[in-house]
Amino acid sequence: MADFNFNNDIEVQRTFFNTNVTKNVSFRISQLKKLKSVLRANQGLMDKAVYKDFKKGSYENYATELSIIYNEINNYIKNIKQWSRRIRVKTDIANIPAKSYIIPEPLGVTLVIGAWNYPYQLSILPMVAAMAAGNTVIIKPSELSLNSSNVMAKIINDNFDANYIKVIEGGVPETTALLKEKFDKIFYTGSTNVGKIVMKAAAEQLCPVVLELGGKSPSFVFKDANLKIAAKRLVWAKFVNGGQTCVAPDYLLLEKGVKEKLLLEIKKQIVEIIGENPIDSEAFVRIINPRHFHRLSKLIDKQKVVFGGGTIEKELYIEPTILDNVSFDDLVMQEEIFGPILPMIEFDSLDWAIKQVKDSPKPLALYVFGKNRYNINKILKEISFGGGAVNDAIMHLANVNLPFGGVGDSGTGSYHGKYGFDTFTHFKSVLDKSTLFEPSIKYAPYSNFKLKLLKMLLG
Ligand code: NAD
Repeated sequence: MADFNFNNDIEVQRTFFNTNVTKNVSFRISQLKKLKSVLRANQGLMDKAVYKDFKKGSYENYATELSIIYNEINNYIKNIKQWSRRIRVKTDIANIPAKSYIIPEPLGVTLVIGAWNYPYQLSILPMVAAMAAGNTVIIKPSELSLNSSNVMAKIINDNFDANYIKVIEGGVPETTALLKEKFDKIFYTGSTNVGKIVMKAAAEQLCPVVLELGGKSPSFVFKDANLKIAAKRLVWAKFVNGGQTCVAPDYLLLEKGVKEKLLLEIKKQIVEIIGENPIDSEAFVRIINPRHFHRLSKLIDKQKVVFGGGTIEKELYIEPTILDNVSFDDLVMQEEIFGPILPMIEFDSLDWAIKQVKDSPKPLALYVFGKNRYNINKILKEISFGGGAVNDAIMHLANVNLPFGGVGDSGTGSYHGKYGFDTFTHFKSVLDKSTLFEPSIKYAPYSNFKLKLLKMLLG
């Protein structure tokens, strides 16, 4: 394994950070504006690269990656001035007279490690949040989406100084070397297993981490749901990006009596949204590599296929596939699917279904389709999950006012909008004291009178 050493890359960023230039809000705004125009100017290159990586078309690249990045940049440009201001808070009685305030300050030199499935969004969105908060950033995109990684390196490294933001490409050896360095924050997106490696390495440096991980995200569908809408939204959410979405509905939990009708609608919607021949559809991307293709192919139990099930190895193509009569013991339920396979599990008792989810690692997302508020609220109250939606799926991540992140095995920390700004910010507390007088109560000699006074004032 080649030996990499990125110490110099981190040191030049630290030196630049220490000039305090990035603490200047107008510098941050101008850099975000520049980033936006650089990305816009290179949209064609980005489209071509992601198509080469897994046949993702330009419409989807815009809808699910670039538009989200632009929206986030605009939101920061609009708000960072206000979010960077000192926050005045009340002073406690023991410290009067004084002012108390919180200074939001950037953390320093940060590292963003991205995943391949939304190669631009998952690297650039955290980078944008780090820039907005006034940090310098090293970005390590995923080596699995190599063409997109190359393009990001070109766009960023040709247009920005390496002492401010820099893309370092590579796989495990490069990431391992980066993780030996001292950062002020590491923001990692990817699998739970690698998340553990990142957290261990960060612990050595006492470096705080955000871990955006995965997991099996359930979708409950009740009999009273609007099944046409539910099917349309579920089909889009499950099969967009070929099912390679961290918050895709992993499996369906269906109230007894809803399955046949829902399945009919789902089949109709697959044809309507993706087409009769998904292999020719611009709305259906390929599996990222042979390893994932073989992993997914093994999860398709032919006996349980009620739709799709076909695969073409040389195309890395797996049909949109629905599995019926699935149980929690089946292979497909033992790991996050992360591909275009949708298992259906029926339940009689909602308590039983909730228990199955609660007995599994906490999901990144959860969705409920139905009208009965008792059922919806019971699920929202009883199951811990990262974030989710009622009568929709995935779309919660498009709202910059909602924090995006997991809980437990699905991750720690969050970003998007103000939450991203806060993630890359230290809130420094300051008590700014008057010198007008200094009460003697704090100091010895102590007396019963002072004790009485202390109890009266502080309780
Ligand atoms: P991955 O963990 O294999 O790779 C992610 C990053 O980690 C890459 O940059 C890779 O180079 C690096 N990496 C891989 N192995 C490493 C090692 N041994 N040491 C150090 N670094 C290493 O993840 P993936 O396969 O790219 O992504 C799939 C997973 O990510 C799924 O579980 C999915 O749900 C999750 N995911 C989560 C989110 C989210 O926002 N929560 C988004 C996308 C994907």
